[in-house]
Amino acid sequence: MDSSVGATAPLSSPRPSLSAEGRARLFPSATDAEWTDWRWQQRHSVRNLEQLERYVRLTPEERAGVQETSSLFRMGISPYYLSLIDPEHALCPVRMQSIPVRAEARVRPGELEDPLGEDKTRPEECIVHKYPDRVLFLALDTCSVYCRHCTRRRITKGGEAELTKDQMRRGIDYVRNHPEVRDVLISGGDPFLLSEERLESLLAPLSEIPHVEMIRIGTRVPVVLPMRVTDSLARLLRRYAPVYVITHFNHPKEVTPEAREACERLVDHGVPVENQAVLMRQLNSDARIIKELSHVLLRSRVRPYYLHQMDVAEGCEHLRTPIAKGLEILEQLRGHTSGLAVPHLAVDLPGGGGKVTLQPDYVIERGERETLFRNYKGQTYAYPEPEETDCSCPYDEVWQARSRELGFRGR
Ligand SMILES: *Cc1c(COP(=O)(O)O)cnc(C)c1O
Ligand code: SF4
Repeated sequence: MDSSVGATAPLSSPRPSLSAEGRARLFPSATDAEWTDWRWQQRHSVRNLEQLERYVRLTPEERAGVQETSSLFRMGISPYYLSLIDPEHALCPVRMQSIPVRAEARVRPGELEDPLGEDKTRPEECIVHKYPDRVLFLALDTCSVYCRHCTRRRITKGGEAELTKDQMRRGIDYVRNHPEVRDVLISGGDPFLLSEERLESLLAPLSEIPHVEMIRIGTRVPVVLPMRVTDSLARLLRRYAPVYVITHFNHPKEVTPEAREACERLVDHGVPVENQAVLMRQLNSDARIIKELSHVLLRSRVRPYYLHQMDVAEGCEHLRTPIAKGLEILEQLRGHTSGLAVPHLAVDLPGGGGKVTLQPDYVIERGERETLFRNYKGQTYAYPEPEETDCSCPYDEVWQARSRELGFRGR
């Protein structure tokens, strides 16, 4: 599995990793060949109470949670992700993301089955077209681990039939027939659970559409099933560049040597990796944790992209933070650490309004002559306005004509 493109930085540590420890405790008889085979991991995924109790001593809240949510949303935990669970602490972030608690079975007022109003802008079974120049392509409804905070649980809970070849083709036709779409975000479910043949049967036609400039793939595989990121998968993605992988780490505990290697394998092959985290109460709702997460991601060459305010999805209220918490966290990052380590804080407006971003307000006063700011240390500074204010760009007409002539490749 060694990469021919570049070696991953040495991960040697004198102590066994978390997952090695957990694996020895929970799956002592799994061979290396089995453990590192993603299909073995999928086959041994923990899917019901009886299996789960074999591995984890559940709290009464968790046991009730598994029972009461069993008809509402799937449960599934890969052996690898299970091996990261703290057996002693119910508020372990890995545990909170994968084992349901009783609160999840309760739907609170204001919670929505389709919190982002996606079904209103779903012209095809597999297409959500909400923004002018990009679409979401829902390629399948299965995941390796079912996140207890999943916003698309109406899809991932199962029951919607698997996408047929015909529906997939209609999705591709939709993109082909909409020249305004320059960015296709493939999601689901988890697209990296598709076979390479099937993934290619999606990437190849999409990348041949002249107006499709880039493809993004949203996947939790590097976090929950890192052995799936093989050289062969990475090479496949590279063939259809630019393909950006958007993954979903929520806590530094998840950035294990294996997860890090999966991300670095993608980057080594020329596939940029970005991270979207979800802010969750008592799981990562603390500036120190988000900062550590950003730092370990950047060390693994993964760029923090969004920090999401939790959506008002059914059964998720116990994980939601007040809006002020996210702002407070950003306030403690901006200026205090690398700008690259500061994600955008996004709120996806309930009902389908789309994403908006928030940031702390640094403007004290906006005047005609100058704007008064406070900086990250709370000190006051003035920025003077220029004399001239005409911001039109006369050369742009020339450039637009020239660049149309040259085309993107000819520049
Ligand atoms: C988030 C999202 C996108 C992508 O948004 P970006 O801000 O470009 O990352 C596209 N479509 C839908 C429906 C989304 O929810
Ligand atoms: S991987 Fe994504 S789609 Fe799947 S359960 Fe988690 S959040 Fe939902």
